Amino acid sequence: MFKGIIINNLDNDYETKLENINEKDLPEGDVLVKVYYSTINYKDALAITGKAPIVRKFPMIPGIDFAGSVLETNNKNFNIGDKVILNGWGVGEKHWGGLAEKARVKSDWLIPLPQNMTFKQAMSIGTAGYTAMLAVLALQKENIIPDSGKILVTGASGGVGSFAINILSKLGYDVIASTGRLENSNYLTALGANEIIDRNTLSEKGKPLMKERWVAAIDSLGGSTLANVCASTSYGGMVIACGLAQAMDFPATVAPFILRGITLKGIDSVMASHAFRIEAWNKLSQLIKENELAPMIEEISLNDVIIKANNLIKGNITGRIIVKLN
Ligand code: NDP
Repeated sequence: MFKGIIINNLDNDYETKLENINEKDLPEGDVLVKVYYSTINYKDALAITGKAPIVRKFPMIPGIDFAGSVLETNNKNFNIGDKVILNGWGVGEKHWGGLAEKARVKSDWLIPLPQNMTFKQAMSIGTAGYTAMLAVLALQKENIIPDSGKILVTGASGGVGSFAINILSKLGYDVIASTGRLENSNYLTALGANEIIDRNTLSEKGKPLMKERWVAAIDSLGGSTLANVCASTSYGGMVIACGLAQAMDFPATVAPFILRGITLKGIDSVMASHAFRIEAWNKLSQLIKENELAPMIEEISLNDVIIKANNLIKGNITGRIIVKLN
């Protein structure tokens, strides 16, 4: 038996509990992992509270990411004790996830924990940092280099935004941070932002083309912000869309694409290729040290997961919540 959070929906009665779970009930998979750390992402909080239909199959153990070590496997590419990370692949949605002491998953979903990284460091970075890294790698692949010009990051105080600012700054880029919380300016400057703008200047419907202000952008908001970000990107630039914190729609025109030749690129962390994941995590291990993460982390146990998920949905949480399991 092992402990885990379990979500049931019997007779449409959505219920999330901490329970003792029998190992034989774990879903199919060729690797059994002892989970050391998981996190509570916004998506996990939605699943735990039932505020959005994230869970596709019941009963479900939530937790879209985890770090742990291999306990059992019949896959010749893995050995007992191997340290691994998992992000996405529908885990915590369609397949039992990381908010439990054990997880059984497909070996294809696992990547090795980088050598100089701890389980705690990996989950402190979590899916937010990994998504930000995928976005920065996409800019680099398009030859957007520090000399190319300024890079805008929207949703700056959020998980993806904060990591994007920090990574870009460490790589030598000149970063503009867009935030609705100007009182966070010191925090954003400490992360590496050189300029801070009010997100209200981008959030309302704008013109098809506006003054060229940045060569590239990493946007976690979608909606009118994404349209305005594209309309203000300079000739030949690139915009990365990775979230919808403002809105799902994209009320834009083709003008920035056909008159300025800009590229709009999407980032998906859930189904990203194995090679792209390994590249991102190895780069993160070089760029982000564990002691820098301490101020933004709250470590909790499984006992506090349900209450913290409710607080996260209410917007009462600052920073990232990591869950220690073993
Ligand atoms: P957070 O909630 O941590 O941050 C979102 C930030 O966006 C907030 O801190 C706030 O920044 C800003 N914001 C929030 N609401 C609004 C609004 N209504 N209008 C304008 N700005 C707003 O989320 P994450 O950083 O973890 O995720 C950001 C987005 O990326 C989400 O939509 C998430 O679903 C998505 N995501 C996508 C992934 C992928 O694979 N593509 C992976 C991970 C996340 P500020 O206060 O500074 O303005």
